[in-house]
Amino acid sequence: MSAETVKVIVRCRPMNEKETSENYERIVNVLPKRGAIEILTPTKPQTSREFTFDCVYDSTSNQKDLYDESFKPLVDSVLQGYNGTIFAYGQTGTGKTYTMEGVAKDPDKQGVIPRSFEHIFNHIAQSHDRQYLVRASYLEIYKEQIRDLVSKDPKKRLELKENSDTGVFVKDLSSFVCKSVVEIEHVMNVGNVNRSTGATNMNEHSSRSHAIFMITVESCDVGQSEENHIVVGKLNLVDLAGSERQTKTGASGDRLKEASKINLSLSALGNVISALVDGKNGHVPYRDSKLTRLLQDSLGGNSRTVMVANIGPASYNYEETLTTLRYASRAKHIRNKPQINEDPKDALLRSFQQEIARLKASLINKKTKPRRKGEGGLHDVSKSSDDWTDDTEAELEQERKDILNNSSLIAEERDQLLKTLQNKQEELRSKRENQEQLASRIEALESKLLTGHIGVTSENGTIEDVTKKQQQTLEAHRQEIIERERQEREIRQKLESQDEEVIDFKENFSSLQQEIDYKTRKLRKMYARWQSVRQEMSDLGDEFSRQRRELEETQEVLMKELRLKQLIVSHFVPPEFRRQITSRLRYEEDEEKWMLSPATEMPLLPRSCASKFELRPTSDFEKLARSAEDSSSFGRFKCENIFMLSLDIPQRTTKEYEGPEISPTLQAALTQALQSQSNAMEVQSSKYKPVDIHSFLKSACRRKMQLIQRPRSRNSAKFNNSPSHKRYPQGHAPDGTITAAPYPKSRGLVPK
Ligand code: ADP
Ligand code: MG
Repeated sequence: MSAETVKVIVRCRPMNEKETSENYERIVNVLPKRGAIEILTPTKPQTSREFTFDCVYDSTSNQKDLYDESFKPLVDSVLQGYNGTIFAYGQTGTGKTYTMEGVAKDPDKQGVIPRSFEHIFNHIAQSHDRQYLVRASYLEIYKEQIRDLVSKDPKKRLELKENSDTGVFVKDLSSFVCKSVVEIEHVMNVGNVNRSTGATNMNEHSSRSHAIFMITVESCDVGQSEENHIVVGKLNLVDLAGSERQTKTGASGDRLKEASKINLSLSALGNVISALVDGKNGHVPYRDSKLTRLLQDSLGGNSRTVMVANIGPASYNYEETLTTLRYASRAKHIRNKPQINEDPKDALLRSFQQEIARLKASLINKKTKPRRKGEGGLHDVSKSSDDWTDDTEAELEQERKDILNNSSLIAEERDQLLKTLQNKQEELRSKRENQEQLASRIEALESKLLTGHIGVTSENGTIEDVTKKQQQTLEAHRQEIIERERQEREIRQKLESQDEEVIDFKENFSSLQQEIDYKTRKLRKMYARWQSVRQEMSDLGDEFSRQRRELEETQEVLMKELRLKQLIVSHFVPPEFRRQITSRLRYEEDEEKWMLSPATEMPLLPRSCASKFELRPTSDFEKLARSAEDSSSFGRFKCENIFMLSLDIPQRTTKEYEGPEISPTLQAALTQALQSQSNAMEVQSSKYKPVDIHSFLKSACRRKMQLIQRPRSRNSAKFNNSPSHKRYPQGHAPDGTITAAPYPKSRGLVPK
């Protein structure tokens, strides 16, 4: 069993509209000949980092080339009985789904999944003397929960199970036998619909869930050989959740928790990769997440694996791109030991074949004419079922006619004989139906088993065969060219790494200048390498501290939640009850969750009984609250023993106040009075002459001024009391002149 490394390819998507319109710099250079990706540091454009991979694709790459070069060989090996996994890793929006699914309505832009369908069914159609059974399942892992995307209830959580024969599997996962590309595409479409309806926002959801499309191909020879081994190849096509840091998306609260679970499975994937690459302590933490458990065989197991790392070219994604490249670069060193799955216990093909054989045998049994009294041996089996039932039917019909024509029989006897005959005919009819059912069941089962050409070789020479052969030869040549290119890339990469490492101390120099030049060149190279290693170290430091911060934030959120739950438990669950629940708790290793064992042995807590003075069981606190002076402050017990009925609202019997109506003449007078067109207001009085308000104000002011200007004499009080200074109502003297209005003086306290 030879080991091989995980194949890692990198694909850089084109700049999108937003990036172009906002003039982001392109910081990724794809070098397909060398299989290298160069990434420039946006802050220091003269520095760059370079990573090499098995194959790299730039923005001009097309889906067909990608499939033919990088995925076809893997699907071919699945058809031979190996397990294979293709997974797309990268930041959201870098083209994982585009690579895996592509654009549904555009055949040129079909992704790996639909192309693999065509590939598998074409291969089967062109096969010779081989029988195949193809099954498909589709699941997603969302927030560490497995959901079957093609079941009737896609929201139901499924469990992971493990058994020594089949390894890790998803219990109750539905799988559909597919006979054609159309049927398997239907499975994919149904799954995709369920994936989108499960979320409020398709993109948000899909970038947070891992989707796995599983194809199982079972096959065996149907030639002459008795010992036909069944081989089973499983293909996992995985579209992973976006690998971006969740702090960048501003996640908080539930979203952060959700993100932490996604990060958990992606970081578990990272840890598995690191553990497999370092291989120091032998423990690989597959059990840390559902994703890694499901992909256990694909990472360090018996699978062939291709990882496609998707990146974007724009400068604002520098950190994510670098992280993806680093992740992918580490995954290159994982070693798998692929092996063919021969005659596994769970092969469905074997049970199909056995069932078909059983049904055929039972059909043959049924075809055998039942012995009649006096008849020895079996009926001629070579006769078809229809022949002998037809014969028997004819015999019965003849018998019926004989009975009817037989005049020696009395009526009762004849009826009896006819009844027996009718029963026989019924029995015969039901047997025939039974056989037809069996035949159609065999047909249905056989139709699920796919076979290419049986007993036909291309030497037979039809035009179709010749064309197919030519196509195969062409395809083989194409694969050969791809393989040569791959080897070329590999050799180039090896040479480059040797060139960097080897320092030729034995170099002979003819002149000092030559030696200086050589060593300067070497020094420059070494300096550049040193710089890049230093940069790498600082990047890694930053990355680790960022991850640590994120984990701390998540831990903080989770701790808060835990504290809240503990608080609720300590305040609301009685200690006795808590103790009993704790004693019933047990951890299920297989299902990875805590379970409560049955409560049979747990005695029930005594219930508080109602006293004869109370209507219902009443707590001490409630009694205390009721007896408190201000019982209204205990809002909970305010309505104790009071019927709460909604009020009957009485009919309204009053009216809003509306002022009396004003007569038009009065309204006109009021309007005129309020208009104040003239400042002069005439006051009519029977006692006093009419006064012009202007002249009144003027004279009043004048008098006031005179009073102010007059020097204050000592006898001013006398002046005030002088008899000439008499008081007139409202300051008007009887002669018509206006006197200053006297201010009413306080009379002080008047004794009563
Ligand atoms: P992801 O699944 O990684 O979140 P998508 O596959 O949804 O990303 O790709 C985001 C957008 O970028 C889509 O509109 C897709 O058509 C486009 N895109 C991605 N990769 C390519 C590519 N190689 N060529 C052209 N368009 C691409
Ligand atoms: Mg996607």
